[in-house]
Amino acid sequence: MKDPLIIGNWKSHKNTQDVKEWFARLGPQAHGVSNAEVVLCPPFPLLPLCRELLDEYQLKWKLGAQDVSQFPEGKYTGDVSASLLKDFVDYVLIGHSERRSEHNESDDILFEKVKRVREVGLTPIFFVQGTQTPIPPAIDIVAYEPVFAIGTGHPDTPEDAEKVGEYFKKVKHVELFLYGGSVDDTNVNIFMSCSSIDGTVPGTASLDPIVFARLIQNA
Ligand code: PEP
Repeated sequence: MKDPLIIGNWKSHKNTQDVKEWFARLGPQAHGVSNAEVVLCPPFPLLPLCRELLDEYQLKWKLGAQDVSQFPEGKYTGDVSASLLKDFVDYVLIGHSERRSEHNESDDILFEKVKRVREVGLTPIFFVQGTQTPIPPAIDIVAYEPVFAIGTGHPDTPEDAEKVGEYFKKVKHVELFLYGGSVDDTNVNIFMSCSSIDGTVPGTASLDPIVFARLIQNA
């Protein structure tokens, strides 16, 4: 049986106090039996606190950033460079549909971001909306999130997700294929039973620690 990769995307939710409470409520639930590799993606300023709390609660989970600057360190006000992120995270999400639609990030910009992330030895997780989304060469991890399924409570069908996964694996030679879009603790097992799906990206379902812990168990 494959070990699932579960990426909890908090988007711009939560503040310092919320995070402390999230970990305190998660407490014992998180130590159940699971082989999953779990990656939490909090907003940038919460990364150091999450690092501290993961250590305190002795969780071997990893951290990911939700975005990165397309530029190297330098005169780019407001940007967060890959070289700064590497002190905190192992993974960086690139090309989430909210970055594409709300921040007009083009394929060119996203491809630059992948370069910055690779230069410092971090792993990009590249988001696509279907088989038509271009991906940079030699991407290892692709996350498929159809826009209609994000935050709506209406996931794509496992059959569709499976087909998209087969395309990226067979045609694009992607190593790990993830599905995201209204994944929760009740449907994660259905997606995980698809042969081309190696993990999931819960957004809403990662905000409540009990639901998130159950999702990890059920994956
Ligand atoms: C996401 O945006 O990465 C996501 C999948 O959100 P949700 O689980 O809320 O659909």
